[in-house]
Amino acid sequence: MVNFKCPVCHARFRGEEICKRCQTDLTPLIQVIDQSILLYNDALQFSETKQWQEALTSINQAITCYQSIKDYHRLRSLISKQL
Ligand SMILES: [Zn+2]
Repeated sequence: MVNFKCPVCHARFRGEEICKRCQTDLTPLIQVIDQSILLYNDALQFSETKQWQEALTSINQAITCYQSIKDYHRLRSLISKQL
């Protein structure tokens, strides 16, 4: 699973709504992460059925939501090679 960090203090966070270290409200972050994971999963499913254009659209949207995840970029480069 992906490691996410608090955007304020960079403490590792595992889905808590409030950062344990700096007490920042992480709810908005959790929402964009959830959204990006959904889009990433869509991209994986499109890849399995070789719908590469749709897969690329989904992974690009996932990266727009949350760009600092290596897995997303890895999947995008895989998809790009198929187009
Ligand atoms: Zn924090």
